[in-house]
Amino acid sequence: MSAAMHAHRALVVGFTVLAACGDPSEPVHEPVQPTANLAREIIDTKLVFDVTAKTATATITFGPATEPGASLESGDLAISTVTSDGADVLFAATGKQLDLGLAASTENLTVDIAYTWQNHENFEGASKNGYTLVWPYFCGNVFPCHSAPSDGTTFTLDVQGAPAGQTAVFPPEIPGEAPSYQIAWAIGDYTQLDLGTTTAGTLVSMWHLPNDAMKAMTGGAHLVAAFDWLEKTIGPYRFGNHVGTVDVAWPRGAFGGMEHHPRWHVGSAAIADEETNVHEAAHGWFGDGIRIRCWEDFVLSEGTVSYLAARALDVVAPTVGATVWQGYATDLASLSPTDPVWPQSCGVVDVIEDNLFSRAPYMRGAFFYKAVADKVGADKVDAALHAFYMAHGGGAATMQEMLETIHDVTGYDATACAQTWLKDAAIPTPGACP
Ligand SMILES: [Zn+2]
Repeated sequence: MSAAMHAHRALVVGFTVLAACGDPSEPVHEPVQPTANLAREIIDTKLVFDVTAKTATATITFGPATEPGASLESGDLAISTVTSDGADVLFAATGKQLDLGLAASTENLTVDIAYTWQNHENFEGASKNGYTLVWPYFCGNVFPCHSAPSDGTTFTLDVQGAPAGQTAVFPPEIPGEAPSYQIAWAIGDYTQLDLGTTTAGTLVSMWHLPNDAMKAMTGGAHLVAAFDWLEKTIGPYRFGNHVGTVDVAWPRGAFGGMEHHPRWHVGSAAIADEETNVHEAAHGWFGDGIRIRCWEDFVLSEGTVSYLAARALDVVAPTVGATVWQGYATDLASLSPTDPVWPQSCGVVDVIEDNLFSRAPYMRGAFFYKAVADKVGADKVDAALHAFYMAHGGGAATMQEMLETIHDVTGYDATACAQTWLKDAAIPTPGACP
């Protein structure tokens, strides 16, 4: 992926209509001017899109704030109106930020934002080909948002206006707090193939495109068993009871998936790949179910999930698991030692511009956990991941906190092992931690 270059937009200031009030004893409320306030937290986001008209409404609930104002990332959205309880709210859209005229409040405040959006290719918003992808910080091209990975919001979503003969596949609700990049839709000629139900009662499906039925069955051969293992081993799933893989017509050459829980996306090129399907499923626990505190903690999402995909397949389909580890070893051998894995800062690194989005956090992270498992036992690492999820599920966490949990649960201090796998440039040889 590459970073977006957006045209700078002109300042747009909304207006307010004050209702006349007959009682002269009532104070006149001056409208609050649009005020930047990045600290005012998003609690809930309700989105309704018409993909034909390219119009949308976002109903955003903010938490209490001691200072006035609120700010949202708004990319190149064209904001039409902002209201709260039917009354106009003053707003200013400057560059890629939308500032709102909201008073300080000890209560939650909800605003309704009507807007139009534009398509973006290269995984920077809503594609003309019928899918969205806003990781890492392109949510503002689709809806007003906070893109910081630690910020969580619940969602509802409705997507209207799909072309005749096509279906929009999306989660109507994300009931647990999710990062901005988790929400998505995909529109196509979809068939829903139900793979089965886990012990906890979660229905696992594949939504596949025409001619991909066999590939979907191959890629999903152990998806129910792997999801069942994750629920039993790591902890209860947070994002509903109907999950699965959506086969998406990504551009040719794009191999992989995106953790759009509970209906995660896998590019058509990877739909038959078991590791990709289980990898995206495992993000329901790490990356989504637990958000990363800073982009520097990317390894807590991708390293943990890469390990968990191989570990889950090791248990439920050992031959497949062994093949996954062989593929990881090949990937590890091809890494550049200079690619960063776990930068020791927070909020400084740009995940794309600073090259953190490489295969290095995935593979060095996976082999770090494997090295700990080879030292203390894979079941002990399972127990540490379970304890971490029970402590941090629904919130944001750091890789340093993971090292502390591993120490607490297994009794083994993995600091030196993490130094070689996650911090030093030289790539270690796979094997047990010293
Ligand atoms: Zn991933």
